[in-house]
Amino acid sequence: MLKLDHVQTFYGNIHALREVSMDISEGEIVTLIGANGAGKTTTLMSISGIVPPRSGEIYFMDQPIHDMRPDKIVSLGISQVPEGRHIFPYLTVMENLDMGAFLRKDKAGIKEDMAYVLELFPILAERRNQSGGTLSGGEQQMLAISRALMARPRLLLLDEPSLGLAPIIVRRIFEIIRKINTDHNTTIFLVEQNANLALKVAHKGYVMENGRITLADSAKNLLSNEEVKTAYLGL
Ligand code: ATP
Repeated sequence: MLKLDHVQTFYGNIHALREVSMDISEGEIVTLIGANGAGKTTTLMSISGIVPPRSGEIYFMDQPIHDMRPDKIVSLGISQVPEGRHIFPYLTVMENLDMGAFLRKDKAGIKEDMAYVLELFPILAERRNQSGGTLSGGEQQMLAISRALMARPRLLLLDEPSLGLAPIIVRRIFEIIRKINTDHNTTIFLVEQNANLALKVAHKGYVMENGRITLADSAKNLLSNEEVKTAYLGL
């Protein structure tokens, strides 16, 4: 479904991604783990067109997207939930959700997806008229995921959904990630520093160090890989 082929991305002369190649198949949950500054967020930004690669190629459903504008990429079916949520703080929960469906015209489908996200996260239904900025961190993460789902993505990009949240909320978010994947066969690309949780929910994983992919394997194998255990699982 998604293929990165020798992608190189820069910020000015900072070389953030070096020859990154990856494959994500439809229906999979794939995780990218790595330390602070490894290049995980940049990988998502390159896929969504916000920080386009300087060289290399990215294909989504066999279509080249490495030169495409971010709004066009969203319209093809890729939605990103950014690190730190970035919901609209002065808009209500419902208005935030409407913004997620901004590029859609199918009213019936939008209504269906609205009902789906409010069922996934009933707390958002309770807070529907509250402004986004007054929600707790966990609720804002739920809203950010729901807003992305309102675009009805085929591929959902999640950047550090566990960041700064209490363990009980993190567990709930990860249960929902699995549910989104099974309910609509939504493919999920999950960037996480919490390698343990990420590898438990994922089918496949990549490890990134200093802008390069250093390991690629099934999540099960990565969980028992000695290097991964020492460097990322604290074992
Ligand atoms: P984190 O977990 O801290 O978000 P990360 O693995 O997502 O880390 P990136 O944010 O992709 O890493 O950063 C990769 C490299 O690019 C780092 O060296 C970082 O300092 C640099 N970088 C990221 N964003 C910018 C920017 N806007 N301008 C310049 N350099 C940047």
